Amino acid sequence: MSDPVVAIVGRPNVGKSTIFNRIAGERISIVEDTPGVTRDRIYAHSEWLGQRFSLIDTGGIDISDEPFVTQIQEQAEIAIDEADVIILIVSIKEGITDADEKVARILYQTDKPVIVAVNKVDNPELRGEIYDFYSLGLGDPLPISGSHGIGIGDLLEKVCHYFPKETEQTDNDTINFSFIGRPNVGKSSLVNAILGENRVIVSNIEGTTRDAVDTPFETKAGDQFTVIDTAGIRKRGKVYENTEKYSVLRALRAIDRSDVVLVVLDAGTGIREQDKKVAGYAHEAGRGIIIVVNKWDLVKKDSYTMQGFEKMIREEFQYLDYAPIVFVSAQTKQRLNQLPQEIKRVAENQRRRIRSAVLNEVLMDAIARNPTPTENTKRLKIYYGTQVAVKPPTFVIFVNDPELVHFSYERYLRNRLRESFDFSGTPLRLIARRRK
Ligand code: GDP
Ligand code: GDP
Repeated sequence: MSDPVVAIVGRPNVGKSTIFNRIAGERISIVEDTPGVTRDRIYAHSEWLGQRFSLIDTGGIDISDEPFVTQIQEQAEIAIDEADVIILIVSIKEGITDADEKVARILYQTDKPVIVAVNKVDNPELRGEIYDFYSLGLGDPLPISGSHGIGIGDLLEKVCHYFPKETEQTDNDTINFSFIGRPNVGKSSLVNAILGENRVIVSNIEGTTRDAVDTPFETKAGDQFTVIDTAGIRKRGKVYENTEKYSVLRALRAIDRSDVVLVVLDAGTGIREQDKKVAGYAHEAGRGIIIVVNKWDLVKKDSYTMQGFEKMIREEFQYLDYAPIVFVSAQTKQRLNQLPQEIKRVAENQRRRIRSAVLNEVLMDAIARNPTPTENTKRLKIYYGTQVAVKPPTFVIFVNDPELVHFSYERYLRNRLRESFDFSGTPLRLIARRRK
């Protein structure tokens, strides 16, 4: 279900972020609206010859107040914990340094595949020198040049070769979800409260290390869910755990592995800047989203309180207008039993498929009611549409000129789709293509 993870490690200045950007850079994602989230430099989705994967630049996880040697050691440990394949970057310019050797020694401790990439091999004459790097004891060094884009293809080919084969037991009926949010909004309390109310399934399948803290459970109605850990309980005590970048990374990883993401807000403190960041990540990932207002027990209520709160959320998170809002309390358990059914509904909406005939009826009806715009006497023509993907539902509409599909008309079409079908909780993607 979730893409393999590749981590880049190495001491400062070997070219990690240059290579990260080169691998991650080309990908353009088409996302509904723009929430204005600054993309996180340390984590990206990428693709090589149709194989999707996630990429982490561990060099971007700065663990402040730690000496630099400790930092790169911690970064290597993060790579070991999070990744399926690790790329150790070294540099032909300086040769093997003490710091390179320290990182290599940490990487000996994992049985995950490690690929040594020797960077800054900008011209063929330098290739002869890469054999020195065999002495790192991590196999064949691969010459690359991040800034010139040389050898990146060979590197990715080697990386993809090591990806775990599609697991056979992936698709059972369980719905994966996670609670994300800034510290102290009540994520762990919510997990515990939900598990307390439902039957936890004790799995005897050997868990992969990365997924070991996910907990499957079953509701009285017989629906199966798996709640994905975001806190990284397993790693308690590690220095890097409390750094902001690392917790962002954990949240992004949890989002990737979820069908539905529950964005938790704290009714006691109201909406903060960090909440918006977190919600933006979930939105960009195209997962199902539910907004959960926790600690509702702390709020003095009159009959307008809930509407007021809802209005505020809709104003602050305009791009999440599709997400249902649930007001709960992990402490008093108020409305917690609504969450599983709401999660199930959103998961179903994420997988909803609309037959082309029905879709085109809706599109043609939409166009009849609100004619397509014109620009410089050229009118947008929409010929037909078809759904090309689920999770999230993605539609391609074939048109005379994609440039003529303005944001406002696209939004109108999307709204018409939402009025015609239950897409509550799921983003929709709409792609305009020129009809050939
Ligand atoms: P990081 O600290 O490991 O993330 O390294 P950076 O990506 O920031 O790169 C450090 C320096 O090395 C920068 O000045 C880059 O421009 C330079 N650099 C990166 N890749 C190459 C390369 O392939 N060849 C050369 N000559 N310089 C490079
Ligand atoms: P996390 O950091 O998001 O996992 O938050 P925790 O679950 O650790 O909760 C942070 C604090 O909020 C703890 O002191 C909890 O007891 C408290 N808390 C969590 N949920 C509720 C709630 O529904 N009502 C109240 N009053 N307090 C809560």
